[in-house]
This record gives sequence, structure tokens and C-alpha cells, in this order.
Amino acid sequence: MAVRRIRQLGDPILRARCERVENPKSAATRLVADDLRDTLRAAKEKYKMGRALAAPQIGAPVRIVFVQIDKQRWSMINPEITDVGPDDFLVWDDCFSFPNLYVRVTRAYAATLTYTDLKGKEHTMQLEGPMAELLQHEIDHLDGILALDRASGLDPFAFRSEWEKAHDRSERYGPRKPREMP
Ligand SMILES: [Zn+2]
Repeated sequence: MAVRRIRQLGDPILRARCERVENPKSAATRLVADDLRDTLRAAKEKYKMGRALAAPQIGAPVRIVFVQIDKQRWSMINPEITDVGPDDFLVWDDCFSFPNLYVRVTRAYAATLTYTDLKGKEHTMQLEGPMAELLQHEIDHLDGILALDRASGLDPFAFRSEWEKAHDRSERYGPRKPREMP
């Protein structure tokens, strides 16, 4: 178990397409999941934000995501979005790999997620709102995609400190709207 350095924007590992995990029950998989948990705990303390980390953010290019919300936590191996609902919403997104920046992105409002846990058991979850956008963000990390790449609309970037002067945190989420087809 260890707190690892969180890789920052510009580090090429954040752009890697991560490998699938062949054995979710292996010691190597457990080690990455434990390090994600410990690193997330330390980062939450430091930045007073955050709900999840993806393995490439701690330098491990494998498809593992760790999520903790309040007392609930999930180690997700090979997570995948298998379906999305018909609606989108705007989100002012943030990321531990560029912790001072907010980026406005468009995300699906609802999504179906599948993943395997550390015991090798498969799960399916129906996600909505904050959980749906979170897992879209984390799974993007596994494909080398950052929220910056999904910047949406005019003026999509703001330093956190400036954004917080002008907005309430509740304004991070826009209303749910039918997806606009390109
Ligand atoms: Zn991130």
C-alpha cells in the first residue's frame, strides 16, 4: 500500500490506451487498486475534492478505476459503458491531473456500466447524473482521453478559484436535455 504521485497534464502516460486486466484476482491488480485507494484518500485531504482515480493517473497503464463516495467504494476492473440514455447535460468537470482547472464538458445523463470486482465477479450498474458523468470521465482516462479534449461551447475553461468567485458549486451541473445530434 502506498500513496503515489498523481501524474499531471503533459505526462505521456495520461495519453496511453490502457491494457485490459486479464486476472482481476491477481496480487498485481490488488496492488494497483490499493494504491489508488490510498492515493485518492491523500488527494482528497489535500484538494478537498474528488471522488475517483484511474490507474494511469498513478502511472499504471491498466484498466482499473477506484471510486469512493462517502463510505461507499468500488474497485472497478475493466469498466465499460455499454449504453447511454438519450439525454445529455453540461458539467464543469475537474481532474486531479489538472487540479486548478475547470472544464465545461457535455456528458450523457444516464449510462449503463459493467465492471468486474477484485473477486472476479461481474457487475452491471445503472448510473445517473453525477455518477454517470464521473464514470464517463474515469473511463476516458483508460483510453488516454482527458476532460480537456471534450471542452464544450464557448469559453469552456476557468481556473477553479475564478470559477468559484462567480458561481455556486450547484451550478456545476446543467439541466438534462435531449442529445443534439451532430
Ligand atoms: Zn481525471
